[in-house]
Amino acid sequence: MSPDSWSLSRDLLFRFCPRAYWLRYRGPRDPWGRVSLPLKKLDSPEIRRLREDGLRAAFYAHLDDAEAWQVRQVCRQAIFRQAAAITSATAASEWAEVLLEESGDALEALSDSADLAQLRLLPPGRFLRQEQIAIPVGEFSAFSRLDGRWAGQGKWKLLQVGCGGPHRWRLALAELWAATKGLARFGEAELAWFDLETGRLEWCGSSSEAAQQIRERVLVGAPLFLSNDEADYPLCAELDKCLGCPWRQTCGR
Ligand code: SF4
Repeated sequence: MSPDSWSLSRDLLFRFCPRAYWLRYRGPRDPWGRVSLPLKKLDSPEIRRLREDGLRAAFYAHLDDAEAWQVRQVCRQAIFRQAAAITSATAASEWAEVLLEESGDALEALSDSADLAQLRLLPPGRFLRQEQIAIPVGEFSAFSRLDGRWAGQGKWKLLQVGCGGPHRWRLALAELWAATKGLARFGEAELAWFDLETGRLEWCGSSSEAAQQIRERVLVGAPLFLSNDEADYPLCAELDKCLGCPWRQTCGR
């Protein structure tokens, strides 16, 4: 992805704290710094994304029907690699173990879930795959990811996998993407959200309001996102956020 692109995770981090965004994406220094706290004690969109990515890795490995020990190895390495970019090897290793344990519980719930059984009626490789999607918005491209798409009964179904309830922006990006590709006119695709934490599949209505917000957000926010000037990225107003921020040491607050 181009460093000058818009993506949902970048936007979430910008809205969490503009200075954290600058440190992560635009600043000249090692953006991450290194934190000594265990990652489970930190909270920011980036940490939540790392957590979700760890659970997603386990989910996909599970669908590959790999041997259990291979699943654990693949997940541990993927989670460790990402976490080690932020923290010490010891803390990253602890983080990987915590997520492996949590994903094990989640996968158990998924395996027992009637929703997963429904998904498995189709060969997973036919509709479940992680792909990056790009949506032109004005002069910019908005990037996101899509977890699955398939056509059934004359309609395209678009699936997003994540943590927590349906994320309307992520669903909206999928719907916008399908419209730009000519797969389905806007409002005609069926959107589904799979929650890794509860193992629930939820069908959602059209995301037109969220899609409009994304258009506005990208067009208004992008010029600021692209500035390299630290002064354009103020410290966040809520001090509470700083307590769990992985960039606190680098930021100096
Ligand atoms: S410590 Fe606070 S002000 Fe500094 S980057 Fe983190 S959230 Fe923003």
